Amino acid sequence: MIRINEMFCSLQGESTFAGLPCYFIRLSGCNLRCSYCDTAYAFAEGREVSIEEILRETADAAKLWHGAGVSGHLLPLVEVTGGEPMTQKETPELLRRLCAGGYTVLLETNGSLELDEVDGRVIKIVDMKAPSSGESSKNLPGILEKLKGSDEVKFVLGSWEDYDWMKNFLRERPRLTERCTVLVSWCDLTRAAQGQGLKPVPAGHHPVSRRWLAEAILRDCLPVRMQVQLHKILWEETERGR
Ligand code: SF4
Repeated sequence: MIRINEMFCSLQGESTFAGLPCYFIRLSGCNLRCSYCDTAYAFAEGREVSIEEILRETADAAKLWHGAGVSGHLLPLVEVTGGEPMTQKETPELLRRLCAGGYTVLLETNGSLELDEVDGRVIKIVDMKAPSSGESSKNLPGILEKLKGSDEVKFVLGSWEDYDWMKNFLRERPRLTERCTVLVSWCDLTRAAQGQGLKPVPAGHHPVSRRWLAEAILRDCLPVRMQVQLHKILWEETERGR
């Protein structure tokens, strides 16, 4: 059984798949407590569901899209997210079964857990936690060595200090941006660490604006893809299933 927080259809908000209709399977539980976490409700809330049931609900959602005349190669796109999906032992089997079902499967994972058991067909989107998260000591940069060209690495940055940290991280790994897409998202640190046991932003961080981040990337000619988090623009923060 897998503990599920929610399953829903929405538009993919991040990654190179941003903007596409996608079925989200949000698993409960996370081993981190990032200062800026916006899905803290997934830490504990959830229900136990069998893999068969998840596959059935996913197939029903996919049928609905095809029945409505939406077709083609972009669907069905499925993302397994959290929380942190890799904290549950049946996640690799769920991923394998989804791939076998013909879906394009994305796995959003926080970069602190090994990914050796993940099916090679899954497109991994791996966070590397910047210092303002309060969780950067949990990063496992070694897992990036095994990523394939279609996988993506994501940095969420909110301060000067985060940006400098990422720049050094990329300098120390010059082949990373050649091997896979590197995504950069901005987060608003002035709203971080509000309850739910989240880590505080470490002292000495200077929050930056989205524009500051864009200008810094251009100034430094970094070969990264800056993205907006589409779901945060489209939907209210309190809305679930979005
Ligand atoms: S990894 Fe961090 S941002 Fe993601 S769910 Fe866990 S605490 Fe939240």
